[in-house]
Amino acid sequence: MGKLVFWVVVAFVVLFAVRLIGSAQAKKRRAREGDRALGGPMVRCERCGVFLPRADAVASNGGWHCRDGECPPGR
Ligand SMILES: [Zn+2]
Repeated sequence: MGKLVFWVVVAFVVLFAVRLIGSAQAKKRRAREGDRALGGPMVRCERCGVFLPRADAVASNGGWHCRDGECPPGR
């Protein structure tokens, strides 16, 4: 009987450890995907005031503009 209890405890400990490792890896993976989705630092368009990823913006006169140049001016 004591042997059975021992193996049940061992099984629970192993399952707990596997779950702990899995959730840590999932958290790491989510953090990585979040960084990629954000696309780096955000900048503000000087014409329309919209915030967009710097990769999608065009630099001009020390500021940033929308890449398509079709944004409504002012605001
Ligand atoms: Zn704009």
